[in-house]
Amino acid sequence: MPHPIAYFYPEGHAAHAQPGHPERPERIEAIRGSLEEAGLWALGTKLKPIELPQSVYQAVHSAEHLERLQALSAVGRDYDGETYLTPQSWGLAQNAAGGAAAVAGAVWRGAAATGFALSRPPGHHATRNQAMGFCLMNNIALAAEHLLQEQGATRLAILDMDVHHGNGTQDIFWQRGEVLFGDTHQSPLYPGSGQLNERGAGAGQNATCNLPLPPFSGDAAFDAAYQEIIIPLLDRFQPEMLLVSFGFDAHWKDPLAALQVSAAGYARQVAALKAWAEANCGGRIMLNLEGGYDLEAAAACGRAVTQALLGEPVEDALGPAPQPEIDRWVPILEQAKQIWDL
Ligand SMILES: [Zn+2]
Repeated sequence: MPHPIAYFYPEGHAAHAQPGHPERPERIEAIRGSLEEAGLWALGTKLKPIELPQSVYQAVHSAEHLERLQALSAVGRDYDGETYLTPQSWGLAQNAAGGAAAVAGAVWRGAAATGFALSRPPGHHATRNQAMGFCLMNNIALAAEHLLQEQGATRLAILDMDVHHGNGTQDIFWQRGEVLFGDTHQSPLYPGSGQLNERGAGAGQNATCNLPLPPFSGDAAFDAAYQEIIIPLLDRFQPEMLLVSFGFDAHWKDPLAALQVSAAGYARQVAALKAWAEANCGGRIMLNLEGGYDLEAAAACGRAVTQALLGEPVEDALGPAPQPEIDRWVPILEQAKQIWDL
């Protein structure tokens, strides 16, 4: 019997911290605490990070990027004004990538029915050549590359629910046809990319789908984006596994952004993706943590999406957004459906 769920917890991650910075260790502890309280943490097997070979690292990041990160971390110098490094950050970044890959591999092989990697430092803004937006190495891209190079995968989907555009993941797979990248995000917002017309190039043409949502879009926008666009694109692409960049900063309580998604709204999309995976790719789906900066939202969303992954009834400790959602997203998703011929 497979384990019901595989987790990765980043041991020692508190050594990657900067006083007053929103990307802080408490984010992980809030999720773990909430899972423990709900009895979900004890259900899972906890995986150690695997050591990824150079071939996997170099398919995702340039040697210059990796050398620079390691050198800056060694002396504890920040990468840029918002992306900090401590002497432990280099090792912890490798652990986060190796942990995401361990969970992805366990789900791929059927050793676990599903998985949730509490990766930290986060990854989805890290491009091939650059750390940015609190992200050092692109954990989900490295996990996908591990499946492609070392586990025999040939077609994967990465779906990014973080409120910010996953520009790093897009950059890494821009010209590659083996990975469908689908991204819902608030626009305008950092980092500014992720417009409807960014659809990949070369072999990756039509393997990138961006759904930019205006501020104050919420659960109805998420429902429409996934039901009417993302899931039909999965039907078309037929990936062998779903890897989800789960940032909980689209939650209405998040201090850095202005979408209005609830924990229940997140869980609905995860349940829909899980159902798609069960019908199409042996149930293979895993979540990998990205951003999200409110600790109550961390606890509520982390628990709700894990319940959805496990097929359990979903609790939403915080409820729906207190203010009504604005529907300026409707014409944008209509335009997306036209572009994608849906
Ligand atoms: Zn984010």
